[in-house]
Amino acid sequence: MGKFVAGTSLFGGRGAYTTSTRGLRLFRYDDLLREVDLFCRHGVETGTVGESELKQRIPYIFVGRKNGNYMIVQGAMHAREHLTALLVVCLAKHLVKNNRLPIDGGIYFVPMTNPDGVRLAQEGVGFVTDKQRKSNLLAVNGGTDFSLWKANADGVDINVNFDAHWAEGAQNGFYRSACNYVGRQPFSAAESRALRDFTLLIKPVVTLSYHLKGEEIYWEFGQTGHRRQRDKRYAEAISRYTGYPLVTLSGSVGGYKDWCIQCLKIPAYTIEVGSDRFEHPFPYSQLSVILRQNLDLPRKLLNSVVRDRRRLFGTNLHTLFE
Ligand SMILES: [Zn+2]
Repeated sequence: MGKFVAGTSLFGGRGAYTTSTRGLRLFRYDDLLREVDLFCRHGVETGTVGESELKQRIPYIFVGRKNGNYMIVQGAMHAREHLTALLVVCLAKHLVKNNRLPIDGGIYFVPMTNPDGVRLAQEGVGFVTDKQRKSNLLAVNGGTDFSLWKANADGVDINVNFDAHWAEGAQNGFYRSACNYVGRQPFSAAESRALRDFTLLIKPVVTLSYHLKGEEIYWEFGQTGHRRQRDKRYAEAISRYTGYPLVTLSGSVGGYKDWCIQCLKIPAYTIEVGSDRFEHPFPYSQLSVILRQNLDLPRKLLNSVVRDRRRLFGTNLHTLFE
């Protein structure tokens, strides 16, 4: 397995997530907390975005400089896509490890936006203490195997719970479910509220959301004029870097990227990693391929966006003082 995985290559120490000779084991919420702690003990800023429905904290790792230009990179918003949590940790680790690479701002890595869902997908309902919730979840899921679960612990699909044409999507569901339920109202889920509030606090210039699977890039949400040109240009650059094609007119709404584009008016992307040749639960053996395709993408994208904003800002100032 690649040198970017596992605590041993960068941090080492007891409790670090490591590869075994049989390949990667599931990357669990416990592993995430230990990895975040290792980042912290090596002088990297870490913190909390907010709390999940079951009061589990949603951690972040910050890499780069505090110069006002920030990016948010998040993963595992969908429970069964927990491989993206490990991916996001590895992307953060790559930047810490290669700290001489120029970075024109800072990146908040949020590896696991949906920790309750990930635990359900990996462990089943055993960890849920509330009996009523437990039986509801079992009923909604129709059994004890949650490995294909996408939602949070309330049966809300976080990525259709954002306030951006909420509940207007073709795939939207209106009852608790393993996937696609939009929730009672926009931001009814603790996780989407936490990510919204964190995003409003950080004021990122660009966001990147990792999902699984399909090897494709979503970039569009009704932008027009110069914003459309701008966002498409970055999307094409992401496509060249990763080798994934762009998807237009997906028809999905209410996602984090959609909200970032519509409400914050910033470029925001959903990247579906992982080949469609594989089925869910997605094999962790593909991580090395996915890492190669995405390894330095966050830094390159942030640098491009910041460079363009500086140019634009310079032009405006010039006009102003003419
Ligand atoms: Zn997803």
